[in-house]
Amino acid sequence: MPGKRFILIVEDDRDLAPTLTEHLIDAGGFSVVTATSLEEADSAFNTRDARFDAIILDIGLPDGDGRDYCARLRRQGHQMPVIMLTGADGEADVVRGLDSGANDYIAKPFRSHELIARLRAQLRSFESSEEAVLSVGPYTFRPARKLLQDAAKNRRIRLTDKEAAILKFLYRSAARPVDRQILLHEVWGYNPAVTTHTLETHIYRLRQKIEANPANPSLLVTEHGGYRLNPESETAAAA
Ligand code: CA
Repeated sequence: MPGKRFILIVEDDRDLAPTLTEHLIDAGGFSVVTATSLEEADSAFNTRDARFDAIILDIGLPDGDGRDYCARLRRQGHQMPVIMLTGADGEADVVRGLDSGANDYIAKPFRSHELIARLRAQLRSFESSEEAVLSVGPYTFRPARKLLQDAAKNRRIRLTDKEAAILKFLYRSAARPVDRQILLHEVWGYNPAVTTHTLETHIYRLRQKIEANPANPSLLVTEHGGYRLNPESETAAAA
């Protein structure tokens, strides 16, 4: 998985929450914040710069129902995957959980690796959807809108179709380098008129837009005869 995914776990079971956190950290690629109540979940959301890529949400919480909380998040416009943890495996609970806008549910007791597999599947599916909001260095990247935003600098960068496609493919390739030929075929298809020179030209323009120092890129780096996106780089082009 590319970069680190920030996960919020809202669970009042004081054995389950730390165990799950540990398993997510061990699985790799996750950074976890835990909350034991809806109030704590709210303050996690309100923490400056908080960003969650997915939420694992218990239904029975001391100060409310996780399903209502999920419905509220959806009303507020949060679209990240939400996986509900349910103690009551009754069908009504499940249906209500999904009605509230949750993407999936898992009944307790469950195995951590199963939850992690479902979480990864939800993240993959969300990241390829129209609503996806991806984090690339200091930017939020909306592939469907071909838009990068640097909230701290109140700056918006519009991308061309090809630039957005390049960035999206590199993002999905985890922090691994992608060979030029592979990237070329992914973005342009099998078109004999398009050569790696075309790709290099697009990479050059993209770097002019997004890098603080395009001559010494830190986000979109050249590596092993290809390109690699470094989504956790904090540097960005000056406004
Ligand atoms: Ca509970």
